[in-house]
Order: sequence, then structure tokens, then C-alpha cells
Amino acid sequence: MGLNDAVDWSRALGGGVRVALVQAGTFRSDAGALLGPVPRVLWDPLVTGEIDAEHRLLQALNCLLVETRAGRLLVETGIGERIDDKGRSIRRYEGPWIVPALRTAGFDPGTVDVVAMSHLHFDHAGGLLAADGSRAFPRARIVAQQKEWEIALGENPRLVASYIQPELRLVRDWGAEGWADGEEDVLPGVSVVPTGGHSAGHQAVIVRGWGRSAGVLAFFGDLCMRPWSANPRWVTAFDDFPLDSVTAKSELFSLAADEGWIVVLSHEPRHPVGRLVRDRDRFRYEPE
Ligand SMILES: [Zn+2]
Repeated sequence: MGLNDAVDWSRALGGGVRVALVQAGTFRSDAGALLGPVPRVLWDPLVTGEIDAEHRLLQALNCLLVETRAGRLLVETGIGERIDDKGRSIRRYEGPWIVPALRTAGFDPGTVDVVAMSHLHFDHAGGLLAADGSRAFPRARIVAQQKEWEIALGENPRLVASYIQPELRLVRDWGAEGWADGEEDVLPGVSVVPTGGHSAGHQAVIVRGWGRSAGVLAFFGDLCMRPWSANPRWVTAFDDFPLDSVTAKSELFSLAADEGWIVVLSHEPRHPVGRLVRDRDRFRYEPE
């Protein structure tokens, strides 16, 4: 599956629920930081040929458009178009950002009813506003965990490093109207489930179809960025609470493997859709 082909991935889950993958551009992240505590000798073979001269890996900004009979939901917004030139070049960010990406995929951003974000780091919450400061999804309820908003706009210098606070302050009131406090059904069949770990208020999004042969799709956010994230112990250096990540991953990945859920990886550029299967004391990601 190539970058452009991936926009075309979609799947009916039953009962009028359909999920489409929309990639809102790419950026690059330090390879060692992505693999956190894992020694390079173990991960190097997994990324052969993918590391650039600055030791970085290409990362996609994977978003999902979920259509249900009760409304449309967007999962994640990517980096957006408001990031400054310095941030853009440091991260080697290349669009299109989510609004033109949605239009290319055939969706009008003005029809999105709910925007759910796994967390509020710059590469997930950056697309809420257009360049002129207007709301990119004017009628949408914004769903992130209340705890995530509090951490993101707090003062802990270690925790706030991955948030762009001036931007988040611009959307705080909009976000506060819709924030979730714990597990919640945001549309019939679509729920957000707090996980913590990567960030204190990180959440997963689970989409369930209806009827015979109904499917389940899980988006575990940055707890499951890339194929190697299937190992619960392989957490990134960006995880603020790595032990919580390991616990949440073990529990959720068990459900996903045992119940055969479709899993969409948050930053995988080439094979973002697959399933998790049990593999000894861990899991293995098998792309579709
Ligand atoms: Zn991310």
C-alpha cells in the first residue's frame, strides 16, 4: 500500500458504519527516540533503508473518517498548516494537511460532527484551526480527555514539551465544550477509552459495527504507532508514563488479538491497517 493508495482504504463494519483512512501528510522523528528503551541492535534490522542522514524515520499522520447513521467522526487532525517554518523544517513536515486531504478523499470538513483525538501532542491536535485561525471543523464537538487538556496546558516542563501551548490555548474553550471524562460513547458504536501512558490523558478510539458479521476497528493512538509497537514493552522515549503504556497495551492488545479487531497504526506510512496476533508473551502486527 503506497501513500496515495492508502487514502483509498475504507471498510464497512456493518450497520451503516464505514471507516476510511485519510493520511494528513508526513513528518520525521528521531529513530532512537521512537524505539525508546529498545537497543539499536534489535530494531536496526526492522528499519533498514528507512533512516535518513539525520537518523530519522518517515512517519505518516494517519487519520480516520468514521461514518455512522448518527453522524460523522474524524479521528486525529495531524500537524495542520499553522506550524511555523522552523517547526516545519525541523520535523521535515510535508502536507497536505487534514482539510485538503479530507476533500481529496471526498469528505467535506464542514460535515464532521465529532473530532476525537488520542491526545493533544502537536502531531495530533495541530489541524483544528485553519491558517487564518478559523475552526477547520466548524460544527464539530472536540473530544479529548479532560485530563489531557489539563496536562497539556499545565506547567510541568517535561510533560509540556510535545504540546504547542499557544495553539492549544486558542482552542481550549472549544475543546472544553466536548471533553470526555473517562470512557464514553461519542456516537452510537464509537467509544473513547482512556489509556494514559504515552500522555496522561491519552485515549484509544474503538469503532464497532452492527449486525451479522459486524467488525470492530481500534485506533490505539501513539500506543501503537508502528508495526513494532505490537510488543507491549517496546514504548517510545516520548511516552510520559511508560509503565502505564505497557499495562494499557497488554490489556487492549489482548482484546484486539482475541476478538480479531482491525487495527490502524497512528504513524505507519506504508502498512497502516492490520491485525494483532499473539506471539509468545507479546503480539505481532500483521498488515492486511
Ligand atoms: Zn504522534
